[in-house]
Amino acid sequence: MGSAILLALNLANSSFASNLSDGNQNNRTQGKFASFAPLTPDTPVVGIDLGTTYSCVAIIRNERIGVEVIPNESGNRITPSVVGFTDDERMVGEPAKNQAHLFPQRTIYGIKRLIGRKFGDPEVQADKEWLSYEIVSGKDGSAYVRTNVVRGLSRDLSPEEISSMILLKMKQISEAFVGNDIQHAVVTVPAYFNDGQRQATKDAGAIAGLNIVRIINEPTAAALAYGFGKIKGNRKILVADLGGGTYDVSLLDLKDGLFTVLAISGDTHLGGEDFDQRLAEHFSKIFMKKHQKEVKSDNRAIQLLMSHVEKAKRDLSTLLYTRISIENLMHGIEFNEQISRARFEELCSDLFKKIIDPIEIVMRDSGLKKTEIDSILLVGGSTRIPKVRSIISEYFNGKELSQNINPDEAVAYGAAIQAAMLRGNKKRILIDITPLSLGVEVSGGLMSHIIPRGTQIPTKIAQSYTTEQDYQQLIKLSVYEGERSLVKENRLLGQFALTDLPAMKRRVPSIQVTFSIDENSILSVTAREETSGIEKSITINQDKSRLSNDEINRMLQDAQRYAEQDKVIEGRINAQKALENYIFSMENTVDESLANALLIIDKKAIKSTLKEAKIWIKENEDSATQIDFEDYLHDIQLFCDPIIKRAYKRIAKELAEEDYSSEL
Ligand code: ADP
Ligand code: MG
Repeated sequence: MGSAILLALNLANSSFASNLSDGNQNNRTQGKFASFAPLTPDTPVVGIDLGTTYSCVAIIRNERIGVEVIPNESGNRITPSVVGFTDDERMVGEPAKNQAHLFPQRTIYGIKRLIGRKFGDPEVQADKEWLSYEIVSGKDGSAYVRTNVVRGLSRDLSPEEISSMILLKMKQISEAFVGNDIQHAVVTVPAYFNDGQRQATKDAGAIAGLNIVRIINEPTAAALAYGFGKIKGNRKILVADLGGGTYDVSLLDLKDGLFTVLAISGDTHLGGEDFDQRLAEHFSKIFMKKHQKEVKSDNRAIQLLMSHVEKAKRDLSTLLYTRISIENLMHGIEFNEQISRARFEELCSDLFKKIIDPIEIVMRDSGLKKTEIDSILLVGGSTRIPKVRSIISEYFNGKELSQNINPDEAVAYGAAIQAAMLRGNKKRILIDITPLSLGVEVSGGLMSHIIPRGTQIPTKIAQSYTTEQDYQQLIKLSVYEGERSLVKENRLLGQFALTDLPAMKRRVPSIQVTFSIDENSILSVTAREETSGIEKSITINQDKSRLSNDEINRMLQDAQRYAEQDKVIEGRINAQKALENYIFSMENTVDESLANALLIIDKKAIKSTLKEAKIWIKENEDSATQIDFEDYLHDIQLFCDPIIKRAYKRIAKELAEEDYSSEL
């Protein structure tokens, strides 16, 4: 990647201060492309973080449940800011990112680096060197993208047009979520964006059919997410935003709801993609050593490796070890490697060292002492990396970092708060939705969510379950609300049991559990075992035992705070279950389906392996990690699967011979 460019700007008393209390603002773009109905307290307004690498959208539909970060079509809460063209279609978000390496000149990413800039801008000239698509001088000397669009036509597109495609995607994601039109949005931009870049962002919104009611600074949005908009008095807030490709540090001064940017600095080429690159280089070297093959020579292999290393990097934010496992990296070769967090930190150590420089610059420019900083907010997906957090915390002598909002969602979260403020002060509940998720307890003490939080009521959702033990005659159903992975951290709403079930082996019964909530928030839960028809239900009147808004908020905050930890616990329990399931199904295969087809010696070998595995689980249940369970499973699969495969082959051969002989 090109050389890093440090930005330092002193913005004391600049025009970027934004007043949060007023409701309306002139919108220069309004009416240029479309006209929009004026905002009322009932108008849905989303907050959009239009990021360089990922975008995120959030909304407040109901004051009681607060901000909801909206998942995209694959259930992810952030969406790649990538637009891709093939001869047949235009793709935005995940599909575009997934095929990026196949169409490098037709996949447009990082467009935020170009928006509102002239072709001759030194930043554009520097970026041009390493962006894989073509940049040309367009209208009025602005930077444009030249690419082949659908049907292979070459076209020059403005960054506003590309950005509008991303905004349109975020609009569609929101509309699918709320089930209604979304016409208005608050969009965030970096604090250093000038008027031209801000205006271009607004124009992008208008092209997408969105009325951008307000552009706000990303660090300001992050501060709003942390509730600083409501605080009376004076605060100094440092916001460090390490995203996918850029690092922005801002120092904010807050006086009674009015934010002023005191100083900003950053590194326009430092972020998650650089860490991915380091991991990819590391694994490419290993692959070269083992197989004498150059990953870089194969676009498909690069693409596969990049998506796996990004995932591994994310895993290493919560786990000390992880592995990448790619079935066919290239030439049919399977690639399976472990990596530790320590090794990852070593590979990126020179990059991590660059984190402090911009912080020092804003401190120097603002003339403030470290002790005068009241709060430090870490924003951007890459601040989930423990090393990044510790480097910043150490610089401020161990000062606590605010961290109860997901760093890659904080900007959109704050934008949604600003959006709700602009919608009007009258506190109105737009629609009635479930404030917390509802579900039942499943094995391992895990919560299985049935109705997600934020579901519009009335609603009815069913899900199927089965048993874990042979001849289970009783199935207990415990109904909980809450977002945590383990039911013991959630709130128990009620319990009942299906009794006198006919004797069935484990995994045979099919239990349909239906949750329905009526207009009056009354929840009824029905469980029905399909083969026997045995059925029971309970009714829970939620209005009577409803939690207060404060209690709901506390539960949501806990869920955010412990999200990573919960993921580790859940991953571990699921890995143990996967191992147990494998043992169980292998036992069935050996004793039942293949009982007569296996050689006695193979049968014995598998049985003793399974027995050992069961003992191993018993002895290590409490101390084993997710990786330990996965490794164990991998090992016994390597042993058992080929034997089973051979047995099936033998059966197939015998059958074929029989057929042949009967024809004679
Ligand atoms: P942007 O730079 O577009 O504002 P984000 O703030 O969403 O984007 O940051 C995206 C980057 O954060 C990506 O490089 C992604 O890999 C990284 N990231 C997301 N989650 C994690 C995690 N758990 N650990 C480490 N990096 C993460
Ligand atoms: Mg960002």
